[in-house]
Amino acid sequence: MKEAVLYSRTTGKVRCTACSRYCLLGEGQTGFCGVRKNVGGKLYLLVYGRAAALAVDPIEKKPLYHYLPGGRVLSMSTSGCSWSCSYCQNYDISQRREIVGEHLEPEQVVKIALESGSDGISYTYNEPSIFSEYAHDIGILAKKHGLFSTFVSNGYESEESIPYLSEFLDAISIDFKGNGNDAFGRKYIGIMSYSPVFETLKRLKSAGIYTEVTDLVVPVKGLGDNLDDARTLSSWIRDNLGPNTPLHFTRFHPDYKMRDVPVTPVETLERHYEIAKEEGLRFVYVGNILGHRLENTYCPNCGKEMIERYGFQIIRNDITSEGRCPFCGEDMHIIRNRTLNFPR
Ligand code: SF4
Repeated sequence: MKEAVLYSRTTGKVRCTACSRYCLLGEGQTGFCGVRKNVGGKLYLLVYGRAAALAVDPIEKKPLYHYLPGGRVLSMSTSGCSWSCSYCQNYDISQRREIVGEHLEPEQVVKIALESGSDGISYTYNEPSIFSEYAHDIGILAKKHGLFSTFVSNGYESEESIPYLSEFLDAISIDFKGNGNDAFGRKYIGIMSYSPVFETLKRLKSAGIYTEVTDLVVPVKGLGDNLDDARTLSSWIRDNLGPNTPLHFTRFHPDYKMRDVPVTPVETLERHYEIAKEEGLRFVYVGNILGHRLENTYCPNCGKEMIERYGFQIIRNDITSEGRCPFCGEDMHIIRNRTLNFPR
């Protein structure tokens, strides 16, 4: 464990400022996430140097489709989470309230990433903002070795954390784990409101951190798969982040406490896609449906298929090294495109 950076002291207590819960902790108390504790009037990150999961993934799995397509990332997590989603697929680590994982200092994580041939490191599987200081120290070191850093996050970061994260964070995938509907958030996620997520998205844009957005479409009627919410979210992204922001509608799979809810029908996801396109978003995807045509990237100007995917694998990438459509010259808004022979 290590003393945290993101906290402040008040009379006899400490206030954690890593996420929007802003837990106020008396002596010996641990925050909602289970990994930040007041010990002797100081806040400690209990999972500093403890990696609960490590794996090399395609960056498409995050999902990040417009950031170094075909890149490989060392994915890592700790235990704990700031949300309590009833259908979490990683609940064995995220909802665990004990400190688990291999002892790995930042230098060791970077060494593993380099030896694995990864292009970057992704902090994922559980919510990374709760272990910001660990990610920060890894990320700063990783950058010196030419590795980028990405978060897969619920967007519940505090205002105070964004400048700290921007010291190392290159890209982020913000996953609403739902559709931004507060009633859904209260019932299935354990948050009162999604408004901190929307604020985070605006702050990330101001900080220049590359961002893609995911809406997990949970088929609980009228709450998780509401088409009006899909329209509201799409128009908000268009107006606040810009029409070139990629939006992913992903398929729900039953898990954890919601094993009785079926997978999202394909037609529901396709309807969400159509609505986002109607609202003017130019790069919209459906996810978790192997081989679906809407996993691919199409030129928003001429409509030609640019990147063909199968799940997280890239089968073909026709985008030019300048990030443009080879047919009409349209800017495809790809960050660090590589004209690689795919798959690697
Ligand atoms: S990260 Fe969030 S949930 Fe965890 S202690 Fe800090 S404010 Fe509370």
